[in-house]
Amino acid sequence: MSSLFIEYFKGGYGKNMKIAGLLEGKTAIVTGGTRGIGYEIVKKFAEAGAKVALFGSRQETVDKALGKLKEEMPEAEVMGLCPALDKYDEVEKAIGTVKEAFGRIDILANNAGISARESIYDYKPEDFEKIMKLNVNAVFFCTKAVAPIMKEQGGGSVINTSSMVSIYGQPAGCGYPASKFAVNGLTRSLARELGKDNIRVNAVAPGVTRTDMVAALPEEMVARISAGIPLGRPGEPEEVANTVLFLASDLASYVTGEILSVDGATQV
Ligand code: NAD
Repeated sequence: MSSLFIEYFKGGYGKNMKIAGLLEGKTAIVTGGTRGIGYEIVKKFAEAGAKVALFGSRQETVDKALGKLKEEMPEAEVMGLCPALDKYDEVEKAIGTVKEAFGRIDILANNAGISARESIYDYKPEDFEKIMKLNVNAVFFCTKAVAPIMKEQGGGSVINTSSMVSIYGQPAGCGYPASKFAVNGLTRSLARELGKDNIRVNAVAPGVTRTDMVAALPEEMVARISAGIPLGRPGEPEEVANTVLFLASDLASYVTGEILSVDGATQV
């Protein structure tokens, strides 16, 4: 058995893997970095040696996340901003601020997202538009604003957070899978367009992941969901972050246009 394999099981579900130095000298932006999967991505990137800018929806939650990071990782070089991700001029300005502060931008994790459960009979058109604005337009806006910077630097890595519903759809809240199908479309298309500039574009497609939302569910519901997952449990945010780290790093230097499932082989 390789030592890496042993370390994985000792650490438990990919926790505490040794990754120091993997992103040394690199800088990253993580949208939706204040909690859940995004917060774990921020920590993972910082632990791997990157300087990280997290984007959140409100100054208050950004400050809270930065305070928590200071306690958990006092040595991390992290900054926080809250541009309206559905407004291109605000996105462009925030990305310019990060470039000025860090000198370069090597990695963009487009992670911010909202979901929906409404039936089409009750679905308000404005709610459909709202989900598209954050889950799709913001991915396009952030990527459009970083691409020229990455091109000038000689390359970069963009990682989008899709979802397993981009493969299966879901029986309600059609805006959410529709948005994640679009994320996959952006991922595959931009990988083809930006490959010549050495910019890789990939996505992770998490299954049910134990963020606050899932942690708040009754245990019997989690058990029912888990029964349909071959690995027998929901994923941990850190397991998604580990996969994003791989795609962000030079370990994935020949991987682009990929939608990588992180779902314990969930079949629905
Ligand atoms: P979460 O609700 O815990 O976090 C969402 C993040 O997005 C937060 O940091 C929040 O600040 C940010 N955000 C929300 N609205 C925003 C806005 N208008 N502007 C800027 N930022 C905004 O959710 P999560 O589970 O960590 O989800 C992260 C990503 O993972 C999302 O794209 C989601 O679709 C995807 N995902 C999650 C699961 C899961 O089971 N948790 C499964 C598949 C995919």
